[in-house]
Amino acid sequence: MSEFKIDEKALKRLEEVSARRNSDKVFCYNCKCDTKQKILFEQVEIMPPTEIVFFDNDGIRKGNAWTIEGQVWKISQCQGCEKINMNVFMRHSPFEDDVLTHHYPTKDFRPFPMWVTHLNRDFTELFSEIYRSLNIGNVRLPLMGARTLLDMFIVEKIGDIGTFKNKLKKLVDEKYISESAQELLEVALEYGNATVHRGYQPTKEEINGVLDIIENILHSEALKDQTKELKRTIPRKK
Ligand SMILES: [Zn+2]
Repeated sequence: MSEFKIDEKALKRLEEVSARRNSDKVFCYNCKCDTKQKILFEQVEIMPPTEIVFFDNDGIRKGNAWTIEGQVWKISQCQGCEKINMNVFMRHSPFEDDVLTHHYPTKDFRPFPMWVTHLNRDFTELFSEIYRSLNIGNVRLPLMGARTLLDMFIVEKIGDIGTFKNKLKKLVDEKYISESAQELLEVALEYGNATVHRGYQPTKEEINGVLDIIENILHSEALKDQTKELKRTIPRKK
């Protein structure tokens, strides 16, 4: 008779995953950290089968498979600030941690910088699309958008003549940007080009870096407008 063996490793994994699922530590949108929370509602529903498609190294469709997942809805109340948080997780197997797919109110990867509203409306609207796309998990579209922001800034300042390198040089000559900023913008542009022309998938750190560079330039523009506004409202001496 064959002996029934318990897989100790699998059992331990099961216990660990289950402990994390039942933990009362949940991210609170208001406290902006994991806090102790009281679970108000929790339910698992079985989702309709989902098709998973596989691609080979050349990006050609290779095959598919079907999977059944559970969707876990959890509403909890922070025991610190008393605000309500809603989380939705995908559950693939008892041996894997649930994967967070939705959180409400949302936890932004990069919060929208309100100073951009001091640039003109075209910039504000494009910024808003970039941030909405970025904060739902996209990386390529935001980077393409960031590249467009840079083009818009250049055209506005010096027009649309010559190669990009020449335009940057002209921006420096006409004192719109410094030489160190020129170097940074060249780096930002390389990422933009790789994404637009070669389908490069940037990491979140890279898109953060590119946005930091471009926003740095545009922020000084926004400050000029903010300063004008402040000058108008300087409290007068009596
Ligand atoms: Zn809280």
